[in-house]
Amino acid sequence: MPETRIDAVIVGAGFAGMYMLHRLRGLGIPAVVLEQGEDVGGTWYWNRYPGARCDVESMQYSFSFLPELQQEWSWSERFASQPEILRYAAHVAERLDLRRDIRFHTRVTRAAYDEANALWTVETDGGDRYVAQYCVMATGCLSTARLPEIAGLESFQGATYHTGHWPHEGVDFSGKRVGVIGTGSSAIQAIPVIARQAAQLTVFQRTPNFSIPSRNAPMDDDYESWWKSDYAAHRAKARMMRTGILYGLNDKSALEVTPEEREAEYEARWARGGTAFMGAFSDLITNREANDTAAEFVRRKIRGMVKDPKVAEILAPKGYPIGTKRICVDTEYFETFNRPNVALVDVREAPIEAIIPRGVRTRSGEHEFDALVFATGFDAMTGALTSIDIRGRDDLGLAEAWAEGPRTYLGLMAAGFPNLFMITGPGSPSVLSNMIVSIEQHVDWLSDCLAHMRARGLTTIEATPEAQEAWVAHGSEVAERTLYPQAASWYMGANVPGKPRVFMPYIGGVGTYREKCAEIAAKGYEGFRLS
Ligand code: FAD
Repeated sequence: MPETRIDAVIVGAGFAGMYMLHRLRGLGIPAVVLEQGEDVGGTWYWNRYPGARCDVESMQYSFSFLPELQQEWSWSERFASQPEILRYAAHVAERLDLRRDIRFHTRVTRAAYDEANALWTVETDGGDRYVAQYCVMATGCLSTARLPEIAGLESFQGATYHTGHWPHEGVDFSGKRVGVIGTGSSAIQAIPVIARQAAQLTVFQRTPNFSIPSRNAPMDDDYESWWKSDYAAHRAKARMMRTGILYGLNDKSALEVTPEEREAEYEARWARGGTAFMGAFSDLITNREANDTAAEFVRRKIRGMVKDPKVAEILAPKGYPIGTKRICVDTEYFETFNRPNVALVDVREAPIEAIIPRGVRTRSGEHEFDALVFATGFDAMTGALTSIDIRGRDDLGLAEAWAEGPRTYLGLMAAGFPNLFMITGPGSPSVLSNMIVSIEQHVDWLSDCLAHMRARGLTTIEATPEAQEAWVAHGSEVAERTLYPQAASWYMGANVPGKPRVFMPYIGGVGTYREKCAEIAAKGYEGFRLS
């Protein structure tokens, strides 16, 4: 097996891996990135489905670490499309000359810690081996696409696609009968676009989702100038916000204002578009009664947009609080169901029994398709990590250590796995935030930590089991104070049969979390053992 000795191996060339490589180079730490795809971009490399777009405004969904980079780059729309974000990732790679240290088409299959030498051995699907002091998992929270467990999946004779593995050349659905399975974020973006092209589109919905119109538009020059005139200050504010996104958060309770004031606030945010809707009142994610007012507002909007009252009722989410499953942002999603070529199947009423050679069989009948699109999401947050055979001290497997749900200290390290780092791991704000803000915070914290260690001649760092247990307990306690655990969401592992139901991201807020990480570092990396 060819073996390469290097200081650091980074797994994944999305935004996390790219920035990590850049920072390690700055510290003079030789590093290599191993990436299974053929280019940089991660999420935006894989998810090329029609309508794929960022839900965070483009002025905020970009790197802040290099002032020239954020000044020279111009976004064409308020919310950037996947191709534009991918072009941005390629631009960053070029500008920082990253590709020379990235090995593409290389999937990491195993990473094992050699305790005697304090080194990680990382193995790839091509049979290469890398031996390194540090191993950084920049493998992404939403990078392990999941197909549903439906009988007969292999028997379908038409074309099948997963939104998270979309063909690079695109798909032409003209004249085709298409079935879409799933109605999460990706489906909500893809459905309106596919419906405009396909002859016939049938959407299979299990759980309806709350979605807010994006009001996407070409970039407003004044808005761009406002950001660029003081980018550093705006970014600094965003970093301290609950979600890492700078937008107006109302500090009033939804229950302390009059019904008219409440309605006006929701209307204004609905008109403005995007996820800032959830900032309408301070208690929307903590108080069910407050939350109900927002949920009912959105249900009313859905009933107003969808002409067939029966279809509107199927699309109107009920039974879980708004915002506790990832809130979606759409462009004419609900209106799409008014089209004559679009049908909705409620699989709670008529469960899918099997995929058959011609299409899909539900309890109420058969549907014939030329193509099936699976918008069935990801094994979120843990999937990419547990699908690598990661072995720590005493051959401890990460997948086994996490059998009851992920356990980490700060979402950065797991006890028993020295010098193995996770970027936006479970236990950090990650998917509840503007992820580029969270990626930068983790990479910066880790880079400072490695600089600290090197300056003192220290070679290993490891989370103590006590600090980890306290962090896990704190994470659950904060989650329990919110409405999040009330929804069967992928944040809870509920989309993967058999996955433990644990609220995985840290809901304490990006700003609070950032301060906590800084405080821990200032106390000499409290809760970590350095040697
Ligand atoms: P990724 O971009 O997922 O990159 C991880 C990389 O690691 C991938 O390229 C993968 O191929 C590679 N990898 C994984 N395992 C291995 C292995 N074993 N060997 C080799 N390579 C491996 N975030 C937001 O903040 N706002 C949004 O609006 C938003 N929209 C999204 C929409 C979609 C459809 C999806 C899927 C995600 C979205 N996200 C959004 C989250 C998005 O994942 C992050 O914003 C960000 O791109 C994550 O970057 P990353 O580098 O951490 O991970």
